Amino acid sequence: MNSKIPVGVSQCLLGERVRFDGGHKRSRYITDELSQYFEFLGLCPEVAIGLGTPRQPIRLVASEQGTQVRGTRDVSLDVTQPLADYAKQVTADISPLCGYIFMQKSPSCGVFSVKRYNNEGQLVDNDGRGAFAEVITRQFPLLPVEEAGRLNDARLRENFITRVYAYHDWRTHVESDPSAKRLLDFYSRYKYQVMAHDLASYRKIGPVLANLKTTPIVDACNTFITLFMAALSHKVTRKGNTNTLMHLRGYLKTTTSRDEKAELGELIEQYREGLVPLVVPLTLLKHHLRKIDDPYLQQQTFWSPHPEVLGLRNTNEE
Ligand code: SF4
Repeated sequence: MNSKIPVGVSQCLLGERVRFDGGHKRSRYITDELSQYFEFLGLCPEVAIGLGTPRQPIRLVASEQGTQVRGTRDVSLDVTQPLADYAKQVTADISPLCGYIFMQKSPSCGVFSVKRYNNEGQLVDNDGRGAFAEVITRQFPLLPVEEAGRLNDARLRENFITRVYAYHDWRTHVESDPSAKRLLDFYSRYKYQVMAHDLASYRKIGPVLANLKTTPIVDACNTFITLFMAALSHKVTRKGNTNTLMHLRGYLKTTTSRDEKAELGELIEQYREGLVPLVVPLTLLKHHLRKIDDPYLQQQTFWSPHPEVLGLRNTNEE
């Protein structure tokens, strides 16, 4: 059995009573489903810096000195620096992680659109990022991150899990012992997946790999993985998947009858129009390609970038 992938999570999402009001924000999707594949490291920065539970709520305050994290009742309470210091203190714990799920809206853990207030408590904007999440995302720019609330969106969920699996694969097979061969082997498995996510990135990666003889391997790996993770962070679209399916269909030239190819073409078209989920044409294409017995095609992660039992490709949402 494969070992689980290490992923960080805001501790309240695991059902632990660490929130300011003594409650939790358990996510069943995280604790019951994803926990079968991910080994979660739960951290609560506010408890870790000694705020205690229950505690007065804190919030982001947009001030002339930048964004601060202050108490809502006692505005003299300023935990901006302690939260940033804690994030640096846990660098060694975060370093092995291949993903992080943060609690949304939190002045410590929120990643996107956290509310910022002025000193009088009036809302200024929604442009903030939690103080802990801010440092983590800056220190680990390649780390796939997402908010728990956004995992309710089928496409964001699939995208995050795809990135976690790919990043884990990279760290296990290339980063741990970089070589030109390992890098090329890695990308030869992901080529069609990158094509599906973002054609522009696909075109940029080619030249990086063409210059491996003249570039130090560590530099090439750094350039590659930055482009690669940026490519996967583009949500895959129906258009991108259709384009990739059509490319792969091109391998069927001699092994499949005209009727079979036409049937597959119809299913790809139905997928493009949003009438059937991706899994439908994908399953038939895989069936035909099995007859070719081509290891290069069979190893493509595009077929299965994450465990199929999660059903992430059974949705018809776009
Ligand atoms: S959002 Fe973050 S700081 Fe707030 S309770 Fe959850 S883990 Fe703790």
